[in-house]
Amino acid sequence: MKNKISVIVPCYNEQESIPIFYREVKKILDTIEEIQYEIIFIDDGSKDNTLKILQELSKEETCHYISFSRNFGKEAGMYAGLKKATGDYCVIMDVDLQHPPALLPKMYKAVSQEGFDCCGGKRCGREGDGILRSTCSKMFYKIVKRLTHMEMSDGYGDFRMMSRPMTDAILEMKEYNRYMKGIYSFVGFKTKWIEFSNVEREKGTSKWNLKKLLSYAQEGIVAFSMAPLKLAGVTGGLFMIFSVLLLVFQTNFIFPCVFFLSGIQMLFLYIIGLYLAKDCLENKKRPLYIVRETD
Ligand code: UDP
Ligand code: MG
Repeated sequence: MKNKISVIVPCYNEQESIPIFYREVKKILDTIEEIQYEIIFIDDGSKDNTLKILQELSKEETCHYISFSRNFGKEAGMYAGLKKATGDYCVIMDVDLQHPPALLPKMYKAVSQEGFDCCGGKRCGREGDGILRSTCSKMFYKIVKRLTHMEMSDGYGDFRMMSRPMTDAILEMKEYNRYMKGIYSFVGFKTKWIEFSNVEREKGTSKWNLKKLLSYAQEGIVAFSMAPLKLAGVTGGLFMIFSVLLLVFQTNFIFPCVFFLSGIQMLFLYIIGLYLAKDCLENKKRPLYIVRETD
């Protein structure tokens, strides 16, 4: 029996990118000997002609699609794709060709012959992503690494080929608040990294903005670390010591201190609220995505 590779491709308003992506990926997959493959596109509630293009492509035997009832986000798209995949190996790719298809044969070799469970592409540099975004990303991953003690850093993304056991382990993680980078790290497995230089998006525009990035960053920290809650305890203790000192010395900066303290309290109420809200959503057990149609 030939090994089967499933390529999972989340798409949100990607009408220009899909045909080019499909052509390029097929070209590379056809060069890998002794394999079968399927390409699964997830239309994440696109408002352009993405669905039409996918319906057309799915007439080919190797091409499938799932279309969501609205935009659920890339995390939900990846989960849906992995669930539909029937391959022995699954690889997640962005449709904008920022994940070079040329790496696929090397990835396949690593997972099928070199004894790795996973082979990921490690992006070097962030040319074309803007200074603000690259600086924020670097800072975020440094903080997350400290807080969660998990292996997450800038450059290690979703572009990775995984064995069936690793894919199944990821599918077992059914949490509603999904943060895939944390999930890969949580499930473990032996991973090989292949470096590639950052390429600019081939067509269309990035679907990320600062607001989305900040909420993604918050998701990553809250989903995998309790450290912000501990910070509340430490800060509370420090302020108690400080207030004793103020009592002893009776200085006149009491009013600014009161304002500052209430600010700190509000901040920590917000942090506690975040964790409660996440837990509340988990308890509701809502579906991660809703399918409108599939092939
Ligand atoms: N994407 C998605 N749903 C979204 C946003 C993005 O499925 O709500 C897809 C998008 O079509 C692309 C991939 O996720 O295939 C990465 O998105 P993008 O290129 O905009 O992100 P960037 O490369 O700028 O991080
Ligand atoms: Mg991109």
